[in-house]
Amino acid sequence: SGAYDVDTLINAVPNLGKLASISGEQVVNIGSQDMNDDVWLQLAKALSATLAKDDVDGALIMHGTDTLEETSYFLSLVTKSPKPVVMVGSMRPATAISADGPGNIYNGVAVAADPKASGRGTLVSLNDEFHYARNVVKTNTTSVQTFESINRGPAGLVHTGTVEWFEPMDKKVGAQTEFSVDGLDTLPRVDVIYAHANMSADLIDAAVKNGAKGIVVAGVGDGNMTSPALETLKKIAASGVVVVRSTRLPQGLVLRNNEVNDDEMGFVASGELNPAKSRVLLQLALTLTSDPGRIQAMFYDY
Ligand code: ASP
Repeated sequence: SGAYDVDTLINAVPNLGKLASISGEQVVNIGSQDMNDDVWLQLAKALSATLAKDDVDGALIMHGTDTLEETSYFLSLVTKSPKPVVMVGSMRPATAISADGPGNIYNGVAVAADPKASGRGTLVSLNDEFHYARNVVKTNTTSVQTFESINRGPAGLVHTGTVEWFEPMDKKVGAQTEFSVDGLDTLPRVDVIYAHANMSADLIDAAVKNGAKGIVVAGVGDGNMTSPALETLKKIAASGVVVVRSTRLPQGLVLRNNEVNDDEMGFVASGELNPAKSRVLLQLALTLTSDPGRIQAMFYDY
């Protein structure tokens, strides 16, 4: 990934000019495993500047698949323009037999050119489906059918440029959110810690010692963890670091005050958001507040 520039990728797609008039802008050229806060801020600002132009009706972003679910959710929360934004990736490299990139770009442009795509936040389009950024996760290491909206289903289908919409988005996106990257040069540090049998509190302590302002636990089951981890997190939450309980499981919700008494512990329950997406939302939330009650409301709304 990151081997070809944007114009080479655009020019590799036959008939793209029949769907829309396209021009490319290279923001960075990296494998998405190297995505970081600086690039997110740079990309969000570049995207908003591009969408603000009168002669731009929408944007397509080409991105590696590894962190696509995180970048798309970040952009969906901070991009105020209602113009369509669609992200695409590919599972097979451009040099592979049956490379999927050109087809995904073609369909992604078709979704971005559809007037119904406006105001829905960022969409992710691969393998003849497109998804809301909030819902979509990568589920398979190598298959072209890897992106799924696990608790729900895709936002729609797209085949050879024909777009069919399913469900509307019921969570707040774009201009409906309270987040903005204007004036932001950094994001607060949030670490994800994976729960497992015999989990100790050592990594939690290390995260806080190294400057984490928020911790997301990829909990067992309904966002649970060992007693030593819970006790340490309760103390950390009381000291002002925000603790979000998510789950290492692929499906289901982490429910507030169900298995763990979040009111008593001072925690936030992630609901439907997996650890990677919880981390994105918590980073943005911490730019505004460290009040767990207010942040819990954001996890319900966004
Ligand atoms: N590791 C690569 C990336 O996320 C995989 C891909 O290109 O999809 O950039």
